[in-house]
Amino acid sequence: MPKGIFSIPPIDNDPIKSYAPGTPERESLQATYDKMWNEQLDIPMFINGKEVRTGNTQRVMPPHDHQHNVGHYHLGTAEHVKEAIETALEARKEWASMSAQNRAAIFLKAAELIAGPYRDRINAATMINQSKTAFQTEIDAACELVDFLRFNVKYMFEIYADQPDSSEGIWNRLEYRPLEGFIFAISPFNFTAIAGNLPASAALMGNVVVWKPSFSQIYSAHVIMDVFREAGVPDGVINMVFTDPQETADIVFKHPYFAGVHFTGSTDVFKNIWKTIGNNINTYKSYPRIVGETGGKDFVWMYKESNPLAVATALTRGAFEFQGQKCSAASRAYIPGSRWEEVKGHLVEQLKTVKMGSPRDFSNFMTAVIHEGSFDKLAAYIDRAKKSDACEIVFGGNYDKSKGYFIEPTVILTSNPHYETMEEELFGPVLTIYVYQDEDWKASLELLDKTSIYALTGAIFSNDRYVVEYASKALENAAGNFYVNDKPTGAVVNQQPFGGARASGTNDKAGSKLNLLRWCSPRMVKETFVSPTDYTYPFMK
Ligand code: NAD
Repeated sequence: MPKGIFSIPPIDNDPIKSYAPGTPERESLQATYDKMWNEQLDIPMFINGKEVRTGNTQRVMPPHDHQHNVGHYHLGTAEHVKEAIETALEARKEWASMSAQNRAAIFLKAAELIAGPYRDRINAATMINQSKTAFQTEIDAACELVDFLRFNVKYMFEIYADQPDSSEGIWNRLEYRPLEGFIFAISPFNFTAIAGNLPASAALMGNVVVWKPSFSQIYSAHVIMDVFREAGVPDGVINMVFTDPQETADIVFKHPYFAGVHFTGSTDVFKNIWKTIGNNINTYKSYPRIVGETGGKDFVWMYKESNPLAVATALTRGAFEFQGQKCSAASRAYIPGSRWEEVKGHLVEQLKTVKMGSPRDFSNFMTAVIHEGSFDKLAAYIDRAKKSDACEIVFGGNYDKSKGYFIEPTVILTSNPHYETMEEELFGPVLTIYVYQDEDWKASLELLDKTSIYALTGAIFSNDRYVVEYASKALENAAGNFYVNDKPTGAVVNQQPFGGARASGTNDKAGSKLNLLRWCSPRMVKETFVSPTDYTYPFMK
């Protein structure tokens, strides 16, 4: 038990390094990238503090050079999932009663390790594994993960400090208990920071975790696990398995001590998870927490009174950074007719200068998409748009998978606001634009609001404050993260808590206190100092 009410060390956002020519960080990251590029990593699962190798290996290849090998990981079986669950439940006996300051110290140390000695390794791994440029990697694998780990500690103590009133002779206390069972963390390929945060946020609150990263992110997930181990996460508290997703889900969701799922990924997978949990509800000891941040069809809407260059820049960055594979990436835009030629001019000018290739070449703005499945799906969308009478390819439209999975930044202009690429999540460098008549701007907002099932991020551009007021109201439920005169990507922990509504997720706002509240179950303790000894009340006299 703590013998003090401790203040925590100062917590702030991790400063972003620039990697500009001549900086020491550029040289050091490039050296680490080259070293890792030429090594073969043997990546085990991690159960009960032990490395687990099965000999059934899958190779790890960078999406921008798919014939190159940087190692392999060991695939697990149903037995490993069962072992990870049992081991976690065993570890829970001690971890759930570990004092908050010791839990906090572990994750603060993990943040320091990533900010310092592991920074190059986790960044290089993310560049190689997920084909992110140095800057996109830095704001994800280093800064955002460090921010999650540090700010979560601050939020945890704020939650613990939130206590009810007491009256004379009575002391009311809220205990924020960990959930009774284990948490299943399922992470996506696209953000190393999310992969680290899904298991870490639950574990910080005293829970034990079975973590299944995406097969396309295992190489950088391995670095996260190394950090957790060095930071002192005890054996069995976070167990990482590389197992078939459906088979893993079948085992986890049938376990009586399944206490919650912390998911980030696509909407269909999440809906399926929710259904399975519902079907198994009689199996569980408690009602499981279901937290899922899922897909998006994120928009940029422009009013005639706004800056076309600023809109074009928001589209170039918002739609094409990290090849449009951010859940927040702009993928549909609504532009007023009178400004379209200007926006198009700026956009095409900017895209003509965009270079695409390996992230090792720092002059590249874009690299490859994550895997062949994604490449083929995107190519099919582009081919259909080329053939459609409702579409014109304004920029790009070419693709090539001979060396890596490269797709040009592609802009489609459509006359059909319900064309498939205006409605569906493509998750790639494809932006579709619909031009509306200036005078129909109110109707265009209604159209935007009703066009897709998603409501993750969105941006409006207007210099007219009445229009900002109107559009903000009209689009109140169209985005969980709403931007005025800015691109819809790049949320920062503790500044723009992140999450969407409608089919985009449960909106439990990663990077805020709201998320951590899902990983505890409060117990109210009322203590009476002098207990009554007479059962009667005065009114009875
Ligand atoms: P995905 O849904 O393909 O995979 C996510 C995870 O789910 C992976 O670990 C995968 O192995 C696992 N999975 C797949 N099938 C499963 C099943 N049947 N049961 C249990 N788990 C299963 O997503 P992805 O391609 O890795 O990531 C991209 C998606 O994630 C996009 O839809 C994107 O919008 C979304 N995303 C959302 C946010 C957000 O905050 N809203 C953030 C990042 C990514």
